[in-house]
Amino acid sequence: MTGIYTHIPFCIKKCAYCDFNSYSGIRDMSYSYGKAVISEIKNSPYKNKKIDTVYIGGGTPTCIDEKILIDILASVRESFDVAEGAEITVECNPGTANFKKLHALRRAGFNRLSIGCQSADDKLLKKIGRIHTFEDFKNCFRDARRAGFENISVDLMFGLPGQTAEIWRDTLRKITELGPEHISAYSLKIEEGTPFFEMKSRGELSVPDDDANREMYDTVVEFLKDRGYCRYEISNFSKAGFESRHNLIYWTLGEYIGFGAGAHSFVCGRRFSDPLGVSDYIDFISSGGRAEDGAETEPDIDMMCEYMFLGLRLDRGVSEREFKKRFGKDMGEVFKKPIEKHLNVIRTLESSGGNIKIRPEYTYVSNLIMSDFIL
Ligand code: SF4
Repeated sequence: MTGIYTHIPFCIKKCAYCDFNSYSGIRDMSYSYGKAVISEIKNSPYKNKKIDTVYIGGGTPTCIDEKILIDILASVRESFDVAEGAEITVECNPGTANFKKLHALRRAGFNRLSIGCQSADDKLLKKIGRIHTFEDFKNCFRDARRAGFENISVDLMFGLPGQTAEIWRDTLRKITELGPEHISAYSLKIEEGTPFFEMKSRGELSVPDDDANREMYDTVVEFLKDRGYCRYEISNFSKAGFESRHNLIYWTLGEYIGFGAGAHSFVCGRRFSDPLGVSDYIDFISSGGRAEDGAETEPDIDMMCEYMFLGLRLDRGVSEREFKKRFGKDMGEVFKKPIEKHLNVIRTLESSGGNIKIRPEYTYVSNLIMSDFIL
C-alpha cells in the first residue's frame, strides 16, 4: 500500500498546545504555496505509482480557498494512478468550513473528513486556544453529512487543563450521539516552544496527573467499546471497516510520498523531507529543488526497530510471519532480549495467532515497552 500526504501549513490562529508545522497570519501565501505543491507533485520521480490513500492534512486545510485543495487533488490524480475506491481524506476545523465548501470538496472526490473537535466543553476549548465552540463543531458535522461525507473522523483530547472525568465522559457521550465512523483520542502533551510549555514552566498551568490521565484513557476505551467502536490502535477507534487506511500505512511501515512544507516521504526504502518553512519551501520548489535528492537509505536494523515500534501500537500487534517475509529474519532472533523480557518475564506482551502484541492492561505504558525495541 502507498499513500500520498500533502501538508497545508496554514491556521487561523495557533492553539496553545500546538507544535505542528503550521502558521497563522500568512494565508495570503496559500495561492503561491498551492502552486508550489502542484509543481512538486507533477515533477515527482514516483509519478504513475499506484496510490491507495491520499491525505491532505495540516495545519487547517479548510482555512484556505477550497479550490486550492481541489486543484491539488486533481494534480495527484493526473500524476499518479489513484486506485478506485482510494481513501481520500481532508482535515477540517469547525469554523473554517461551511456546507458550500464541504459540498465542493465532496464533489471533487474527497470521501473522508477528519474534524478537529477536541472537546465538547466550550470553556476548555477557549482555554486551549481553539477558534470554535462545540456548537460550531455540531454545525460542521451536520453540514459534512449533508454534503455527503459518510466517513467522518473526530479528533478529541484528554488530560486538558481543568478537565475532569465528568467533562470527559460528557464529551464522549455528545460525540458518540452524533455517530462518527472514527474517533481519535490523544492525551495532551506539553511540547517545548508552545504557550502551554511556557505557562507550565512558570507554574501557571495545571493539568490532570498521570493517574487521572490513565483513568480518562480507560474511560474512552470502555465507553467507545460499549458503543460499537473497536480500538485498533492505541489512540484510534473505529466502527467496523472504518479504520484509517492512511494511518495504517504509517503504522505498518508502508510507503508514503509527502508533498508540501516539512512533508516526509518513505518510498522505495528511502527517506527524505521537504524544507519546513512556507517561504523556504516555495523558494526551494520554484528553484527546481527536489526533496528526494537528499534521500537516505535506512539501514535494515533501524527499519526493523521502527517496524516493531510502530506495529506494537496496533491492537493486532506485529506478525512474526510478516516480519520474516519483509526482512528475511526471525523476529524472535533479532529482538531476543526485549521479547524475552516482555513476553516471558514481566509479561507486558502476549503472543496470539503468530502475532506479538501489548496486553491491553499495559497500554498505558506502551511507550516504555515499545522503546525497548529500539536496539
Ligand atoms: S488547528 Fe491544529 S494545526 Fe492549527 S494550531 Fe490548532 S492544533 Fe495546530
